[in-house]
Amino acid sequence: MTDSQSLIPSLDILLANPRGFCAGVDRAIIIVEQALEKFGAPIYVRHEVVHNKFVVDELRAKGAVFVEELDEIPTGSTVIFSAHGVSKAVRAEADARGLTAYDATCPLVTKVHIEVAKMRAAGMEIIMIGHKGHPEVEGTMGQVEAGQIEADEIEGVPAGKGIYLVETPHDVASLTVMDPLKLAFVTQTTLSMDDAALVINALKARFPQINAPKSDDICYATQNRQDAIKIMAKDCDLVIIVGSPNSSNSNRLREVAENQGIEAYMIDNASFLKPEWLVGKHKIGVSAGASAPEILVKEVITKLQQLGANQVQELQGVIESVVFQLPRNLTSASSSQAK
Ligand code: SF4
Repeated sequence: MTDSQSLIPSLDILLANPRGFCAGVDRAIIIVEQALEKFGAPIYVRHEVVHNKFVVDELRAKGAVFVEELDEIPTGSTVIFSAHGVSKAVRAEADARGLTAYDATCPLVTKVHIEVAKMRAAGMEIIMIGHKGHPEVEGTMGQVEAGQIEADEIEGVPAGKGIYLVETPHDVASLTVMDPLKLAFVTQTTLSMDDAALVINALKARFPQINAPKSDDICYATQNRQDAIKIMAKDCDLVIIVGSPNSSNSNRLREVAENQGIEAYMIDNASFLKPEWLVGKHKIGVSAGASAPEILVKEVITKLQQLGANQVQELQGVIESVVFQLPRNLTSASSSQAK
């Protein structure tokens, strides 16, 4: 018996379901791979196409070049917009620079962009619930440009900021809007459902006339993975989430477990697993954020077994069958196009 096994008399592993890749992440990775196959390297990608170091490193090795700003890309090159979406200004800049753009924005993020446009066209100011600095928030808020719609252009439309960001119920209390009767809200797709509900309740209490999105903005993958953690965490005394530090939905999974009173850690890969976390534990739950590949989950399980874990039990969960189509301008492009 090894030293670590002597610290862990009986340790089993529960695997949450569903976990890992969602349809939007699958699609975004395929878009980069197909662009590389069709047009050859380099293919520029604005921002990490999905927030996972392993995925980004693999694509980089195949010839993808990740940049934060379009001015880092030579004129006339090919660019892919990340799954998080981009502002109108970024699209306009890509056009102005003569870039050929393929859009890996998740269709569920695009759905929120369309909602924002409709709400704004209906004369409403919009409150976005999300995390400051996250690229999805920048892209969604960037569907409304400051002063885009002037009061004298469209009757009844205030020339206000157009869209405001709130992160917490506290932010709601200090918000100043043009007209509380012409207000709507949208959310980032990867929020904690419980935290978002608190902010939405605060908004409804302060602005009873506020318009909600037609359907939930928090996506199916985020909801399913959070629900699976809630079910699994009840039976665990430790939860490990596989995900990169900048992955919003992975961070939320760790928080969901913690909010159930369970010790939880998020790790990029098995090398970050600390043996001392396992001391005195009996059941360890494992899941992965929507951008984390299954290979990393398998490596974590192998490491846990090396540290003395025994049985692995895969939990039942919602079966996801969502598949998103690839952008038509990519599927129809011949390899001579672009560049
Ligand atoms: S987490 Fe949701 S919104 Fe984000 S890429 Fe996946 S399906 Fe789309």
